[in-house]
Amino acid sequence: MQRVFSGIQPSGIPTLGNYLGAIRNWVPLQDTHDAIYCVVDLHAITQPFDPKTLATQTREMAAALIACGLDPKRCILFVQSHVHAHARLAWIFNCVARLGWLNRMTQFKDKAGKDREAASSGLYVYPNLMAADILAYKAVLVPVGDDQKQHLELANDIAEKFNHDFGAEGFFPRIEPLIQGVAARVMSLRDGTKKMSKSDPSDQSRINLTDDADAIALKIRRARTDPEPLPEAAAGLEARAEARNLVGILAAISGTTPEGVLREHGGKGFGAFKEVLAEALVAHLSPIQAEMRRLLDDPAAVDAALRHGAEQAAAIADPIVTEAERIVGFLPR
Ligand code: ATP
Ligand code: MG
Repeated sequence: MQRVFSGIQPSGIPTLGNYLGAIRNWVPLQDTHDAIYCVVDLHAITQPFDPKTLATQTREMAAALIACGLDPKRCILFVQSHVHAHARLAWIFNCVARLGWLNRMTQFKDKAGKDREAASSGLYVYPNLMAADILAYKAVLVPVGDDQKQHLELANDIAEKFNHDFGAEGFFPRIEPLIQGVAARVMSLRDGTKKMSKSDPSDQSRINLTDDADAIALKIRRARTDPEPLPEAAAGLEARAEARNLVGILAAISGTTPEGVLREHGGKGFGAFKEVLAEALVAHLSPIQAEMRRLLDDPAAVDAALRHGAEQAAAIADPIVTEAERIVGFLPR
């Protein structure tokens, strides 16, 4: 079976973007692939964070993933810092990746913002750690949102350079991104040119998976749009980023296409359309929220599942990373 790896940062509450662009696509892969999913806390500390809430957020992220349909019996689900192979391989990759490669990464530019000198060095080498996450398992398929495409190309460059420089042709495999669905890049509700992010300072910019019906209705009602009614066909969405985003969200959660949504709602004004969208979102998210609350009633059970996942993950990654260390030439332990 092909091995799949993906991860999510416990840097906030998962958003609708995370759900539609990533998590939802992870669920069916549990039955067709050897699937490994990770709450990437090492990545979460590359940006300002609160050490008092990190552990709780990590557990809540795991509970959200399980509530969305990940089953620790059908996939390996664990916390990144619990498996040391990630950090060991990331260090080697820090010494393989070139500064010129990292300088091209748009996520670093977006996240560092104007004051680049003040960004952590961890944020800069984030893509090297991400390459290590995947390659420590020799995973070949990575289901992610569209924003991670550039990092996966870099991971392939790192794997290729490692294999070549150390005379280990074929040791690390080529990685394929799996970017799926009509909502592979969900945009901010406040700005149609920015992606929705759980770490965006504005809570109004996103739908959190834990938002209640009132919060969802309010955020959708306030979502930025243009004054025109919805077009009759998807071609009419081209220069209308905000409209395209809302239509894409409804298409994704109702299992149709933007064309399908516009066949039903084309010509409507945003007032009426937003009501339909908010209702559909509430109906879709409320069972997930109920399951998440149920899981968090027993935090020890979530932690136990994660401990078991970490043991399974380490059993795969440790021998691969130990072999990578041997290839680099370290004195064996
Ligand atoms: P942060 O702002 O802390 O980076 P994030 O919302 O970008 O948080 P990540 O943990 O970085 O979330 O990414 C988890 C997964 O969600 C990745 O596969 C990423 O591609 C996907 N993803 C993130 N944002 C979106 C989005 N707006 N639309 C679709 N997929 C997304
Ligand atoms: Mg992100």
